[in-house]
Amino acid sequence: MRIFTSKTELSFFLSELKNQNKTIGFVPTMGALHQGHLSLIEIAQAQVDIVVCSIFVNPTQFNDPKDLEKYPRPIETDIKKLEETRCDVLFIPSVEEMYSAGESWDLDLGYLEKVLEGKFRPGHYKGVTQIVKKLFDVVKPDVSFFGQKDFQQVKVIEAMVQTFQLPVTVVTCPILREPDGLAMSSRNVHLSVVERAQALALSKTLHQTVAAFPESSIADLKQQAENFLNNSDGVKLEYFEICNAETLRPAESKEEKSLIALLAATVGNTRLIDNIILK
Ligand code: AMP
Repeated sequence: MRIFTSKTELSFFLSELKNQNKTIGFVPTMGALHQGHLSLIEIAQAQVDIVVCSIFVNPTQFNDPKDLEKYPRPIETDIKKLEETRCDVLFIPSVEEMYSAGESWDLDLGYLEKVLEGKFRPGHYKGVTQIVKKLFDVVKPDVSFFGQKDFQQVKVIEAMVQTFQLPVTVVTCPILREPDGLAMSSRNVHLSVVERAQALALSKTLHQTVAAFPESSIADLKQQAENFLNNSDGVKLEYFEICNAETLRPAESKEEKSLIALLAATVGNTRLIDNIILK
């Protein structure tokens, strides 16, 4: 695996490959890699010639400085995992490599950045679009791979691609879960043994919602899930919503074409998100 820390060197290396008509796939991450991340690399490998992964803990998408500070950064283990997965290229830039001093610009994402994660993490998606745009500018991927785990993020990236008319295809990859249902997340390492067990309430609620979907109204599904989570030990619910999966507007009817249930909650001091497609 080739490792780059410089934008110029990476883009020179990739331009040579593009001249040979190789297709480039891109998997941006913040590291602390788990099987969920690696599944994105594997999906990419099946679709493109060269897979580029980036590891960059992007400061502009953290609204809580403590969250940024304690974000896990096991870079040596990450490199080993990527090598074992036969990733072709890793880009690990510094903050200075990605941002100029005093840089300030953002994309107005309208409704998409005001709801769900956007509402609870103000400015988060402005940071996400800043960094993904910058990474796209360097890598110039043909295809970029994102996890359904961060469903709203995929919508935001699709909106950004449309706004800038970028020649990149966005592929959404399924959520990888632990055998007991917990969605894999870099943040799971912060959970104590007790919290790890309490966190199962999140995926359990989503699976209960799927099971109850055929017989219940949207309002009842939401009520049942909120009751369950509010009565789950150690879980502090931020939101549980059933939305139109295209627009992320609150679902008004079960007749809408595609529906998704999304939630965020803290368990101990760890904030977790999860979602499931209902239709
Ligand atoms: P992150 O490092 O958390 O920014 O995640 C990098 C990419 O991996 C994002 O596109 C995430 O949606 C995706 N991802 C994170 N967790 C999972 C998971 N459990 N299954 C599949 N993809 C995931």
